[in-house]
Amino acid sequence: MSASADKRSAYADRRADAGPPFFDLLRLPGVGWFLRQRWARLGMQIPLLLLSVVLVWHGFLGPDLAPKNLATLLTWVHYRGLLVLVLLVAGNFFCMACPFLLPREIARWIFRPVWNWPVRLRNKWLAVALFVLLLFAYEYFGLWSTPFWTAWLIVAYFAGALVVDALFRHASFCKWVCPIGQFNFLASTLSPLEVAVRDLNQCVECRTKDCICGPPASETAADAGRLALPLLAKRGCELALFQPMKVGNLDCTFCLDCVHACPHDNVGLVTRMPGAELAAEEPRSGLGNPLTRPDLAALAIVFTFGALLNAFGMVSPVYVLQAWLSGVLGTTERAPILAILFAVALIVEPVLLLGLAAWWTRRATGTALSLPRLATRYAYSLVPLGFGVWLAHYAFHFLTGALTVVPVLQNALAEIGWPVLGQPNWEFTGMRSGSVFVLELGFLTLGLVGSWIVAIRLARKDQPSAPWRAYLSWVVLQSILWAAAIWLLAQPMEMRGTFLGD
Ligand code: SF4
Ligand code: SF4
Repeated sequence: MSASADKRSAYADRRADAGPPFFDLLRLPGVGWFLRQRWARLGMQIPLLLLSVVLVWHGFLGPDLAPKNLATLLTWVHYRGLLVLVLLVAGNFFCMACPFLLPREIARWIFRPVWNWPVRLRNKWLAVALFVLLLFAYEYFGLWSTPFWTAWLIVAYFAGALVVDALFRHASFCKWVCPIGQFNFLASTLSPLEVAVRDLNQCVECRTKDCICGPPASETAADAGRLALPLLAKRGCELALFQPMKVGNLDCTFCLDCVHACPHDNVGLVTRMPGAELAAEEPRSGLGNPLTRPDLAALAIVFTFGALLNAFGMVSPVYVLQAWLSGVLGTTERAPILAILFAVALIVEPVLLLGLAAWWTRRATGTALSLPRLATRYAYSLVPLGFGVWLAHYAFHFLTGALTVVPVLQNALAEIGWPVLGQPNWEFTGMRSGSVFVLELGFLTLGLVGSWIVAIRLARKDQPSAPWRAYLSWVVLQSILWAAAIWLLAQPMEMRGTFLGD
């Protein structure tokens, strides 16, 4: 076999699970044309940057009452709801349009970062810790009810992205730090679209590999000179994803730099089987084999159990539990009480449940894999269910409170003496919670079925003759978590962030 054929076969093997793309969003007129433009990302980031400025202004200077403040309402009700719905029906378009990166792009115009991200930190552990910290801060500071702290969070996010990417080269903040980005990466494993090559044969013949290396320096300089904005210059993937070896959406921000860099117009935004990448085993560009990476597995676990914990924080049984813990500890201070709840939900519970499931798999299959290796491997099968819980929860708040933004906007404009939208009409709300609950059940069940499929696909590889021996315990575990999620979402839920609630 020739060297070219060898490479082609390696690339094709890596793409085997994804199936042949039959739709490419970038080929469409209208939206496809827009996304193909070099300024498209900037065109989405600028309005969102302006919106962020408005949120910060209203958070600091607007009404203290959260349901009447744009910072809290848009951040905790609309942004999160739209985020999960767009991830479900399309892909990681929020990272594509992320406004946090715009100041760093402008800063890099002036300062060139010289350091590479430290080798010891090239894993997801820092991001896992920040993800947990964000969930903890949300509960501890009651961020949904505090415009002031929500505004500070937005400012801190801009500052964090600016500092990290001003010091370190490439997209260090997105790849190693940003907890929202990690959420989007995991959730987008269930999205129907991915950035992928159109023709692997073209990649085999390609000599320059611009999608990862960027265009030659001479072309980049000429390009930057031609363009009014050097930040629109072509570049290779800043997240170290080499197109023909890339599998799925993990670590992909949908920035489309590779689309613009490829000299052969060989990168598209194509359809694929949602979730298939969670059971894909072959080493992939920029990530290695996720099924053997404990840091990525920990992220998947926090993503799933964090979804349940976040929903648990909004139903009445949590107050009973907190009161009981307060009595046991002899303190009304919330930090230690919340710390115990978080430790139980995000460490003790997963260790026990995944440990038990892994123990059963080991016993039933006789595999030589250790319990941690098995738990790491099958942790990814929890992601669809975890996404189902986030989806059901955030969609509930968004759909029941979607129209509340109208009077809040009317009020904000009236406050600055420009009542162009009229006086606030506080009758605007959203869908009735009864009809949304049916949708929530649908999302949860879709997540459960997705988790079953991933576990079964992994088990077929591990135990081809009797896969049920390998997947049984995981399917049972997923079903228990699904039942717990239904119980949680069936409880009367606080309507946080809208004036439908307290
Ligand atoms: S630059 Fe284009 S053709 Fe070359 S390897 Fe990358 S995606 Fe393939
Ligand atoms: S350049 Fe990298 S992160 Fe951006 S869309 Fe392409 S593969 Fe994804």
